[in-house]
Amino acid sequence: MEKTIENLRKNGFTVTTFDTAAAAADYLAGGIHGKTVGMGGSATLAQLGLYDRLAADNTVFWHAKVPGDDTRLAADNAQVYICSANAISEEGFILNIDGMGNRLAGTLMKKERVIFVAGRNKLDGPFPQALMRARSVAAPKNAQRLNKKTPCAADGSQCFDCASPERICNALLVFWKKTSWAQSMEVVLIDEDLGF
Ligand code: SF4
Repeated sequence: MEKTIENLRKNGFTVTTFDTAAAAADYLAGGIHGKTVGMGGSATLAQLGLYDRLAADNTVFWHAKVPGDDTRLAADNAQVYICSANAISEEGFILNIDGMGNRLAGTLMKKERVIFVAGRNKLDGPFPQALMRARSVAAPKNAQRLNKKTPCAADGSQCFDCASPERICNALLVFWKKTSWAQSMEVVLIDEDLGF
């Protein structure tokens, strides 16, 4: 984890670390006030209970709470965007795969803060290994979580590079470094297994 953290920092990302998801949720809820906040689809964020914490004094857009493209668009245009990562490589690259693309767009749009929240299970060796994790570990499990009609969702353990209309793997975004349109890009790392 130390090498990855060092490289994330070299790549321009702020890194904060926590022992528990509860401590990370306290940190995020305590540091975001009076903002519009977009959240990407994420089992990790759900485990943190972040929506309810942030909604106490922010305007939060999360399609897991209010389904629909209007919510996704509002989230992408919010001042702050929070999501997880499918994988983080040893070189400090952040990888996400998306079906619709709204989660990727949310991290690319002009923002005050982009925050990636990730458990230790998302850290997975050099880039090729991290890419394999995103494609063959995270994506099938997410397809299963979302009850998609895809071959991977049956057991959640492998990718079949499907042509399903419900395929959730249509675009890959890799952050090599912090982008200049975001005032801040932060990785909140938690020493627990969270999400997929
Ligand atoms: S089988 Fe299809 S939806 Fe499932 S992980 Fe592979 S490409 Fe993605």
